[in-house]
Amino acid sequence: MSKRIAIIGSGFSSLAAASYLAKDGYSVTIFEKNSSIGGRARQLQKEGFTFDMGPSWYWMPDVFERFFNDFGKKPSDYYELIKLNPAYKVYFGRDDSIAIGDSLQKIYATFEDVEVGSAKKLKKFIDKAAHNYEIAIKDLVYRPGVSPLELVTVETFKKLGQFFSTISKEVRKEFSNPKLISILEFPVLFLGAKASNTPAFYSFMNYADFGLGTFHPKGGMFSVVKAMGDLAESLGVAIKTDAAVEEISIDNKTATGVVIDGKYHAFDIVLSGADYHHTETLLPQKFRQYSEAYWEKKVFAPSSLLFYVGFDKKIENVAHHALFFDVDFEAHASAIYDHPAWPEDPLFYASFTSKTDKTVAPYGKESGVFLIPLAPGLEDTAELRETYFNKIMDRFEQITNQNVRNSVIFKEAFCVNDFEEAYNSYKGNAYGLANTLMQTAFLRPNLKSSKVRNLFFTGQLTVPGPGVPPALISGKLAAGLIAKKTN
Ligand SMILES: Cc1cc2nc3c(=O)[nH]c(=O)nc-3n(C[C@H](O)[C@H](O)[C@H](O)COP(=O)(O)OP(=O)(O)OC[C@H]3O[C@@H](n4cnc5c(N)ncnc54)[C@H](O)[C@@H]3O)c2cc1C
Repeated sequence: MSKRIAIIGSGFSSLAAASYLAKDGYSVTIFEKNSSIGGRARQLQKEGFTFDMGPSWYWMPDVFERFFNDFGKKPSDYYELIKLNPAYKVYFGRDDSIAIGDSLQKIYATFEDVEVGSAKKLKKFIDKAAHNYEIAIKDLVYRPGVSPLELVTVETFKKLGQFFSTISKEVRKEFSNPKLISILEFPVLFLGAKASNTPAFYSFMNYADFGLGTFHPKGGMFSVVKAMGDLAESLGVAIKTDAAVEEISIDNKTATGVVIDGKYHAFDIVLSGADYHHTETLLPQKFRQYSEAYWEKKVFAPSSLLFYVGFDKKIENVAHHALFFDVDFEAHASAIYDHPAWPEDPLFYASFTSKTDKTVAPYGKESGVFLIPLAPGLEDTAELRETYFNKIMDRFEQITNQNVRNSVIFKEAFCVNDFEEAYNSYKGNAYGLANTLMQTAFLRPNLKSSKVRNLFFTGQLTVPGPGVPPALISGKLAAGLIAKKTN
């Protein structure tokens, strides 16, 4: 009889792992506490509008291709990808914005317009970033983080200095224009830490941004969730929703199953894609590898305040992805990482997927998502949410030169408390454990429990880190490790 695996959660990492394990001959069941699959990438549908509740930037298309190719499929078998042009627009004030085009040549020209001589510098920077991408994404991130030796290759040895310098330092060596600096420092925000705390090697994110481009899957990112769910089911994976795991059962230091609704279900192996900290709370204290003090010291990626808004008209002067960097970047970053507090003047991000995709809003209307990154664990109240909605709307209306508040049909807010409640997220973090130098590869929480046999982990708190492409890779790594250790 094939070995039975219980997977906790149905985020991207769990869905990826499920397909690899089913392909390897395991009998796989996913247990998801929510009523829909997708985890942080769930979908909200309301009054004819459709919103991605979490990720909205489809980057690194090669990672998705590699995933589907592993099953003899390709993304286009499941969803249509649209390359965005502009990829995104950054707003520094009224009549003051920079649009990032859909090719390197266009972006070089834009940089040159802003700062003479910067096209040449950008080319040099991106050539280096592209080389880092080759090393990192084609190879390094597909290693399971079980030994420091995994990072030692001829290529990484040559790049050693880049692990000890930071993105911020490297960018500032070449560029002096503050707008260009903030555009080049933006991509690593996806890794959850400040550019000044992120190794320069991660400039591969700049190549992902400028070199590979930004895509929109028709129907939204949830189309990718659906595709991965369909693939898993086609391989025989059983998916149970509304099934919160309350306990991981252990006998003789070995995982033997899960408890749901007070009922024990026997399994040979348990893999959790739920937040790592939460998963360990499903175990008796003595079987937890990491103490509360350990988690307390870790650098977590931000939480967020999000608004999903249905507008009764088309919104003018905005791009599909719009970043509002019209206030002090450092002050907001400090309110996230150095002195956690609600930021005085928040940076924010807005996406209007209905600019590209007719399927996500009724005709003549617009679906808008607004996001303010916040320190995890902040107090979260209805009043604070409202105050911050008004703060960003004032700026949004002023910068884009229109009234939009009168056109709001509805708005749904989602913040720290919701992240905790919906996903059992530690302190309501939105996207896991940051990729700082001390939280990279083998320095991250392990894919395999060192205290309980046949218990494994995947997802954004373990290797390789936050983001949808890394979640796909994490699922593959966990499945590979399980096949190696339990066969
Ligand atoms: C607002 C936001 C914006 C983002 N933007 C982007 C972006 O644009 N591009 C990008 O690449 N990435 C982005 N990310 C990051 C990306 O979404 C995540 O890194 C990725 O989705 C994490 O997947 P995961 O499998 O690790 O975890 P999750 O998606 O969190 O999945 C974990 C699952 O476990 C379930 N669970 C928890 N406890 C239990 C239990 N006891 N029993 C059963 N189930 C349980 C949860 O309900 C959840 O479904 C964003 C994230 C957020 C929140």
